[in-house]
Amino acid sequence: MADKINWYQLSAEETFKKLNTSIDGLTKKESLKRLEKYGYNEIKFKKPSPFRRLLKQLNNPLIYLLILVSIITAFLGEWVDTGVILGVVIVNTAIGFIQEGKAESSIEALEQMMVPECTVIRNGNKKKILARELAIGDVVLLESGSQVPADLRLFRSKNLHADEAALTGESVPVSKGIEAIETPDLPPADQKSMAFGGTFITQGSGGGIVVATGEYAEMGKIAEIMKETQEIMTPLTRKMEEFTKVIVIAILLVALVNFALSAWFGFGLIYSFMASASLAVAAIPEGLPAVLTVTLALGVKAMANRNALIRKLPSVESLGRTTVICSDKTGTLTKNQMTVVRIFSGGKTFKVTGSGYNPQGEITFENNPVKLSSENKELKYTLKAGLLCNNASLVEKDGFKVIGDPTEGSLIVSAAKADLTDKTLRLDEVPFESKQRYMATLHQGLDENIIYVKGSPEKIIKRSRNQLIKGEITDIQEDEIYAASNLMAKDSLRVLGFAYKVVDEHKTEINPDDIKDLTFLGLQGMIDPPREEVIDAIKKSKSAGIRTVMITGDHAKTAKAIAKQLGIGSKKEKVLTGKEISRMSPEELYEIVDKVSIYARVAPEHKYDITTQLQKKGEIVAVTGDGVNDAPALKAADIGIAMGITGTDVSKEASDMVLADDNFSSIVKAIEEGRFIFENIQKVILYALAANGGQSLIILGALILAPFISLFVVSLPLEPVQILWINLFDSIFLALPLIKEPKEANLLEKPPKDPDEKIVNWQFVRKVGLVSLAMAGAGLSIFYIYGSAAFTDPLNEFLLTQAQTAAFATVIMVHVFYLITARSIRESIFTFSPFSNKWSLLGIGITISSLLMIIYLPALQILFRTAPIPAEWWILILLFSLPGLILIEIEKFIARRRGWF
Ligand code: ADP
Ligand code: MG
Repeated sequence: MADKINWYQLSAEETFKKLNTSIDGLTKKESLKRLEKYGYNEIKFKKPSPFRRLLKQLNNPLIYLLILVSIITAFLGEWVDTGVILGVVIVNTAIGFIQEGKAESSIEALEQMMVPECTVIRNGNKKKILARELAIGDVVLLESGSQVPADLRLFRSKNLHADEAALTGESVPVSKGIEAIETPDLPPADQKSMAFGGTFITQGSGGGIVVATGEYAEMGKIAEIMKETQEIMTPLTRKMEEFTKVIVIAILLVALVNFALSAWFGFGLIYSFMASASLAVAAIPEGLPAVLTVTLALGVKAMANRNALIRKLPSVESLGRTTVICSDKTGTLTKNQMTVVRIFSGGKTFKVTGSGYNPQGEITFENNPVKLSSENKELKYTLKAGLLCNNASLVEKDGFKVIGDPTEGSLIVSAAKADLTDKTLRLDEVPFESKQRYMATLHQGLDENIIYVKGSPEKIIKRSRNQLIKGEITDIQEDEIYAASNLMAKDSLRVLGFAYKVVDEHKTEINPDDIKDLTFLGLQGMIDPPREEVIDAIKKSKSAGIRTVMITGDHAKTAKAIAKQLGIGSKKEKVLTGKEISRMSPEELYEIVDKVSIYARVAPEHKYDITTQLQKKGEIVAVTGDGVNDAPALKAADIGIAMGITGTDVSKEASDMVLADDNFSSIVKAIEEGRFIFENIQKVILYALAANGGQSLIILGALILAPFISLFVVSLPLEPVQILWINLFDSIFLALPLIKEPKEANLLEKPPKDPDEKIVNWQFVRKVGLVSLAMAGAGLSIFYIYGSAAFTDPLNEFLLTQAQTAAFATVIMVHVFYLITARSIRESIFTFSPFSNKWSLLGIGITISSLLMIIYLPALQILFRTAPIPAEWWILILLFSLPGLILIEIEKFIARRRGWF
């Protein structure tokens, strides 16, 4: 709406009227009409234009240097060099451009997988729709944990609190009301009768009328400021960049020395300049950061295919290093398909037959069906309490399905099995919060109103004054109820207690203070079968050195019974409860936190305590969560994991990763994928840098040898053009296939990596050093062997060029052989099939055939300053190329023996 109306100054009624809507919401047709008029509820970020992206690639000191060199060579009339160097600039820019585009589009795809939804009232019915389809005048319902989808004028607020930090910077949640405020021109922070799009509801529930969407909403107005492009920087790429800076400086120094030396040896100044500058540029692994980004982006995509949506790219790396997974029980380790199988009321235990959500079945006592009567009024009321104190619904649509909380769904089913399906009018509700562990509703009766309460048995017993037995109100039999509840929990049932209270017919609102002096009704116990695949996932993570810890709000005995079925903890495992944690000091918790695998009846703040104490022990902790109050733990965790299906918006916002299927085993798959990506990155780095090291050593070696061997005074073993070619070619055709390497089978059989591991570690020095030495040694030797014969009078220029060509071929062949062994960092070359990575075969094929063309095609000979070499030279070239591979195989052998990884 373009006209400036201060909605907070209007009453809710006036707002409804003004926007031509009502408490029943819009019709679908009307909403579509309005969408067409005012646009979708979304903020369109302008993407940088392709041209800008292209310019960004050129904005790089190395590219400046190359362009400068090409201009100088052009002035000197060295057109071939100008062409080749400009070619390098173009190819480099193109690669960067394409790779960045790829990374960007996969991130966009991920964002689209996490589109926000919201609950609206359309035509009088509650519906879930995409937040983007909200129109002005729509009626939106808010509950604790949800993200406000657009700017709303509130018309209902039940203890509603919003965290508006994203908009106002105020991190303390503010309370929200519905009263109109007269003061004009209030900043958003003071508009208490409004809820703003993009903020989060932290407590309570409410409803509002959409008054502004998309770019017209408050958040849309400041979106411009927040529009910073998403940086795909990870600790690893950051480390890489720092590392590259060091190399750049080192190479510039080497180039300077190279220039001085070669000038001193009497090479022309121009030639010396060009050789040094091109060498410097060529020896820097320019393509590496881009390759790393692509590797990470591809990994994120692979994880998404396995139901793990990564929200923050750096977490891909930490994921592979996870040492402890703290998981919720219900829904993550279990199927969250609840079925009530036992009921306790009036001192008797009943069984419930039937399975799943199909309401066919009956309630039996000692194998005889039970009829509801005045004799077992408490049974009827237990079922009725379950039916009424309930926000779920059961629908029949190819089978029976529950919409809402499965725990509550199962209570509808158990009531239906006793033919109880009618709902009475609900006046008010105290919603379930895992911190409180109960829920209450107020209903209209005939001459009085009734409060029904359900929750954990302990909570219900504590708040009950008496009990209904055989239809009569009697003293509460606490011990008997506890015994019945424990018995159910031991059989891995999730147990809920039920109670009621009759109140005055004029009472239309309830608050937590009313939930006392209740009359206890009974218990219902439901099975929640463990997910079968989790058993295997837990086994796998164990062998991967990852401990699984269950953290649940459920009863200790239920938790332990499920843990036993899944293989969490030991047989004698002690369960630590929230009560016990509350009594402990942080130091006491620290002492035992690495020995406990089951935490029960915990509140979300305990989850935070457990996480931080585990981290103090040096663990890398992954934590799952779904509720609003889980956000602190998710943020504190190294990997905060939110549930895609049952998770609140708040928990998703606080997380690093979202599980699309809420399934624990997806976490383990993601960890495997994380390790895979990490290993790929390592391979690429080890491979690419060895090439740069080798070439630098050749040039440096030649200059150092020059005072002793006159051949090296006459000519360098490699032409700058050739170095440029090798470098550029390697990064595309030889390094990239490494990220397509099939997964090594034993990824989950090793302990996690040390989090402090550096890129330049002992292994790095070993591998890169060995290959660099082998490459330089082979190149220099071949050049010396064939080049010495050129010392005739006059100098045999052709032979010299041939020797250079042989050295060039040698360097490339060392590379090719190294690629074969670089495919695995630690396994011997004999353990993997040469055909298992088609991409590397293709890369090798292209490399070798282009090498042959460069050597034997006259046109390319001019361009690359090569000369055809006799066929028999290849024998020596291949022989000299092998030591690199052999050295690395020996290195792997020793490393395996000594356990150096
Ligand atoms: P978890 O998700 O770890 O199983 P919850 O926090 O969901 O734990 O539940 C903790 C306890 O609260 C349950 O054991 C049960 O007694 C009670 N409870 C769970 N869901 C509801 C609900 N919808 N209404 C009332 N009580 C509930
Ligand atoms: Mg739960």
